[in-house]
Amino acid sequence: MERSRIKITGIVQGVGFRPFVHNLARRLRLGGWVANDGRGVVIEAEGEPAAVAAFLAALTAEAPPLAVIDAVTAEARPPAGDKAFAILASGPAEARLALISPDVATCPDCRAELADPDNRRYRYPFTNCTNCGPRYTIIADVPYDRARTTMAPFAMCPACRAEYDNPADRRFHAQPNACPACGPAYALLDRAGNPLPGDPLAEARRLVAAGKVAAIKGIGGYHLACNALDGEAVAALRARKVREDKPFAVMAGSMAAVRARCLADAAEEELLAGTARPIVLLAKGPGYDLAAAVAPANPYVGVMLPYAPVHWLLLDPGDVWVMTSGNTSDEPIAYEDGDALARLAGIADFFLVHNRPINCRADDSVARVFAGRPYILRRSRGFAPAPLRLKAPGPAVLACGGELKNAFCLTRGDLAFMSAHVGDLENMATYNAYRDAIAHYQRLFAVAPEVAAHDLHPDYLATRYAMECGLPRIAVQHHHAHIAAVLAEHGEAGPVLGVAFDGTGYGDDGTLWGGEFLLADLRGYTRLAHLACLPLPGGERAIREPWRLAVWVLHDLYGADFVNKNLPFVRSLPSGWELLLAAAAKGLNAPLSSGAGRLFDAAAALLGVRGAINYEGQAAVELELAAVGRRGRVLPYEVIAGEPARIDFRPAFAAMVAKLERGTPVAELAADFHATLADAVVAMLRALAAATGVGKVALSGGVFQNVTLLGQVAGLLEKDFTVLFHRRVPANDGGLALGQAAVAIERSR
Ligand code: ZN
Ligand code: ZN
Ligand code: FE
Repeated sequence: MERSRIKITGIVQGVGFRPFVHNLARRLRLGGWVANDGRGVVIEAEGEPAAVAAFLAALTAEAPPLAVIDAVTAEARPPAGDKAFAILASGPAEARLALISPDVATCPDCRAELADPDNRRYRYPFTNCTNCGPRYTIIADVPYDRARTTMAPFAMCPACRAEYDNPADRRFHAQPNACPACGPAYALLDRAGNPLPGDPLAEARRLVAAGKVAAIKGIGGYHLACNALDGEAVAALRARKVREDKPFAVMAGSMAAVRARCLADAAEEELLAGTARPIVLLAKGPGYDLAAAVAPANPYVGVMLPYAPVHWLLLDPGDVWVMTSGNTSDEPIAYEDGDALARLAGIADFFLVHNRPINCRADDSVARVFAGRPYILRRSRGFAPAPLRLKAPGPAVLACGGELKNAFCLTRGDLAFMSAHVGDLENMATYNAYRDAIAHYQRLFAVAPEVAAHDLHPDYLATRYAMECGLPRIAVQHHHAHIAAVLAEHGEAGPVLGVAFDGTGYGDDGTLWGGEFLLADLRGYTRLAHLACLPLPGGERAIREPWRLAVWVLHDLYGADFVNKNLPFVRSLPSGWELLLAAAAKGLNAPLSSGAGRLFDAAAALLGVRGAINYEGQAAVELELAAVGRRGRVLPYEVIAGEPARIDFRPAFAAMVAKLERGTPVAELAADFHATLADAVVAMLRALAAATGVGKVALSGGVFQNVTLLGQVAGLLEKDFTVLFHRRVPANDGGLALGQAAVAIERSR
């Protein structure tokens, strides 16, 4: 006989791991026990040496689908004569430190039950099991058991209870277990909240098919939905939601419905069908037939597959529905019933609601595939709150994040828990959601933060939260945090040459940064170079109206003569530009910015692609889209030596103007702009590498959501450098908090 003590760390709690271990041990005739601990599970197994070895191998090879195993260690113990194998109850301390699983898409077994008329869960929209279903969004407190979820009011019927208690059942300890006899139910309401007759799901389907807009309560909040092939319905949804051009995501009823319309390769299909079920950006294919207003003037469309039973029941395999967050433009997604009725009544024609409360909201995640692997753009439902592992443990840090696309981060030991997407912290509703979510995270992970890390920007609401929370504070410069986020994601400490390109971040000199080349490690940074500054004529308004930047650039290049340039942009200049230039020339309300995003804005406006935006980043997005599929040529630019050195793009703008006047297509110039910026970045990095001896590069900041630029820069660098970029947290400000946390931990050591 041989006995082994085995420790397994990772997400192995609440995913059916202990019953799996129990059944495996019984199969191999082993004695002993399994228990949860703060990092995972601990097992003692005793039996024939060959059986113990087989057990060890099967623990990872046959682990349940949702288990994420970090490490397995085993050490020999003296045999104790155990013949039976037991599942030990967790002690309260261990249970409080368990990891909480993200919400998981309906598994194939549950889908088969939904479709089986003989099954007691036939067409039951809350079907779930140990391998699937809601988790994070229904958990109110830890330890994770039914009484602390929003399933608490639903007492299990005898049949459900028997499944729940049986270690051999797929629903053993499945906390949200339910059936039509004992679980929650859907209801259909009109705009005023009055019940509508008929079967709620069948009736909702019929109304959407008839062109109506639905508000549908799902896993992490309400969706607004309509038939994506119905131009009038999509246009009505756009008008009511006050959303001009920003693309809508859609849900397709099957992979076949995706394939009929989009070009998805194997990696993209895997991402679409994975248990996290993010919205995946896909290229439109020749069979694309959705209403033009779904994703106007865009070669891509965001698509997801059904992830809750209600979606499988609502959408036929051939259907494609718009499924957009249930909110008006800038507010957080609605998830509470009363609030949803109040806020969405002007948008939705009817409501499909249910009586299982959502404890905390989680927007759909957004991702794309870059170079064959997932590249996250918004990390939320399906990913949060799974932790990322930091290089070393440290004090518990609350990293407050940025202003736009906010997500915060809470650390415990060496684990970093990034929050679900909070949104733009520009209004009270979002700020309240942010405060609630922070309190909830502290409860869920049983952490009282010891330090608050925050951005340098004094006016960010996230910074103000840090100021007011009473904790010792560590301020982290915005672009340093971006680079630190890449380092943290890759378990690196630096030093690294960091390229942080975004729209705007607060510099340590009080000016606006965003085109930064930093020599950085987790502790600190030196600003070695940046993009030459442009003034923002009229201040913040220049961000919403990129034509202001372009008119400055033209005047700067050609003086008053620029009005004689034969450019569409010049012919369509809005009135008032003379005053604007005069004020900017005097430095009145024209703050300087080195932001790479502003360079994209100026180019987009100059080329006539986009002079005024109606969603964040629109001009840069459309400039990239104009360049898709083309190889650009490198235009001239200038490097100005100094500390820091600067890259001046004026020669490139002059070349673009000259080519545009000669009739060069806009798409070609958009491609040239990308090629030129990539060349400038790489040339600067080569010079900085020669000067510093650092051969590792990290790329971050919202501009690197642009995979055209990312691909070109990474491609040019890969021969001579180690190139790090994001995969698991967004390059945009949604990943900022991870970097803030990593820096705070390093500085606390
Ligand atoms: Zn299931
Ligand atoms: Zn039941
Ligand atoms: Fe940023």
